[in-house]
Amino acid sequence: MAKTKDEHCYFCGRPKAETDLLVSGMEAKICNYCIEQAKTILDEELHAKAKELKIDHTLLKPAEIKAFLDQYVIGQEDAKKVLSVAVYNHYKRIGQAMEANEVEIEKSNIILVGDTGTGKTLLARTIARMLHVPFAIADATVLTEAGYVGEDVESILTRLLQSADYNVKSAEKGIIFIDEIDKIARKSDNPSITRDVSGEGVQQALLKLLEGAVINVPPQGGRKHPEQKMIQVNTKDILFISGGAFQGIGRIIAARLRTNVVGYTFAGHKEEGIDMENLLQYISPADLKKFGLIPEIVGRLPILTYLNPLDKNALRRILLEPKNAIVKQFVKLFDMDGIKLTFEDKVFDFVVEKSIEFKLGARGLRSILETILMDAMFELPSKKRTKTWRVTLRYAEEKLGNASVAKLRTAV
Ligand code: ADP
Repeated sequence: MAKTKDEHCYFCGRPKAETDLLVSGMEAKICNYCIEQAKTILDEELHAKAKELKIDHTLLKPAEIKAFLDQYVIGQEDAKKVLSVAVYNHYKRIGQAMEANEVEIEKSNIILVGDTGTGKTLLARTIARMLHVPFAIADATVLTEAGYVGEDVESILTRLLQSADYNVKSAEKGIIFIDEIDKIARKSDNPSITRDVSGEGVQQALLKLLEGAVINVPPQGGRKHPEQKMIQVNTKDILFISGGAFQGIGRIIAARLRTNVVGYTFAGHKEEGIDMENLLQYISPADLKKFGLIPEIVGRLPILTYLNPLDKNALRRILLEPKNAIVKQFVKLFDMDGIKLTFEDKVFDFVVEKSIEFKLGARGLRSILETILMDAMFELPSKKRTKTWRVTLRYAEEKLGNASVAKLRTAV
């Protein structure tokens, strides 16, 4: 009965007889005219999206880049500003190269100096996310000179290729974060007499990548061997961001500042105007050389900036404010079970204090909160009637009291 009546397009209402084709779905039918129209709309939308992505690379101004970073990274104002300008210039440079301009702008790789857990990796990752470019993290400590046990420097590019789904063109505009670059410093300020496998040798190998060169990359990583097919990657437009804690560099900075100051001011005013609590803000390339990076590497990392240690206030903000803040993530997880999760305000101070007490830094915030919420996360999904869950200070203290610091440490 209703069968013939149903033979029409559910979008425009045309009866089947007036269409060339009527496609049936589970609950509806669509005619060839509406399919064509939908296809036009789809193409336009996708085109607009693709254009948007392009704009990301070329048109974001430094202030806009910083505003994006602000959503994810708390504090670190100097680093965010320096990084925003560097990234802006980098992608401007890539654009300029394409127009074959006469003045060639040199690549400006970046070095971030700051304690572990202060946001160096987060900064680099957030930049890559904003630009929709492939991103890879390399740990400098596992790198060794070719021919020695450990990873070849080229393995860094293998990782970038993997993150770009082996699209070489895309990888060549990606970002690589080299973590713990301070760990490949040579052990003394003097150029080595004997070979230094894990220090200077690796720096020399790394130099090639930083300078911009066509490198043969083993697609699956591992050691190079003669029969292996290589992929050629040009590192000219890859932005390298390196980071390190440079433990003890404060002493080098202080010594340099004192000698400078002595020359220019009267005795007794030597340390005037110098914030001895946070010496990193005065870091200069000379300090990196003194620490043990070879001058060529320092020269290839011309943008130098620092990260502040995170104080109580910063840690509390990290817990609550970033777009994907840890507390927001747990609230969402509970919400997915239909449970409204709330906290007594003092719980946040408690989590921050414990993270400082256990010397876990920002990384500890998650493991502490996770420990506090573990029982609730285990039990509540089975309790159909629980619709709200409030974490009080007493509850938090009780739950954390049972946890061992050692366990928390292994979780960060
Ligand atoms: P680093 O590379 O300096 O050792 P990370 O960037 O890996 O440190 O930081 C570790 C974690 O701590 C990050 O994933 C992030 O959750 C948090 N974190 C650290 N610093 C900040 C910050 N300034 N703002 C927001 N979150 C931060």
